[in-house]
Amino acid sequence: MNIALTAHDAKKELMVQFCIAYCGILSRHNLSATGTTGKLVSDATGLNIQRFLSGTQGGDQQIAARIACNEVDLLLFFRDSLQSSSLESNDKNLLRLCDMHNIPVATNIATAEVLIHGLERGDLDWREIVKL
Ligand code: PGA
Repeated sequence: MNIALTAHDAKKELMVQFCIAYCGILSRHNLSATGTTGKLVSDATGLNIQRFLSGTQGGDQQIAARIACNEVDLLLFFRDSLQSSSLESNDKNLLRLCDMHNIPVATNIATAEVLIHGLERGDLDWREIVKL
């Protein structure tokens, strides 16, 4: 499965901790991330992550483009709900595209935990069939 990661600044440490905790599961999938998030996670975990540009330079739009092409199976997007940019159009667009393609998306760690366990159990295997 193709898993995309991105986190607002205030949530990057949480993303790192999440990826450390679920490193074993994540290592069996193709990972991509916005620049800074990807660097922090790969430095902390050793996971192999395809890194896009940083969010401010368009990395989130690179992820959005892959979602638009239905090339992402799961998006972990830890948002800082206190940051005004969490309502920005780029962020909304990511979520809109996930809805368009029925791509599971977690915007907080509680949902991410449920999805990662579901992924491990095979609950997202239907994504492979959809893409055939
Ligand atoms: P970053 O992008 O991982 O490069 O910081 C995400 C963001 O801008 O929030």
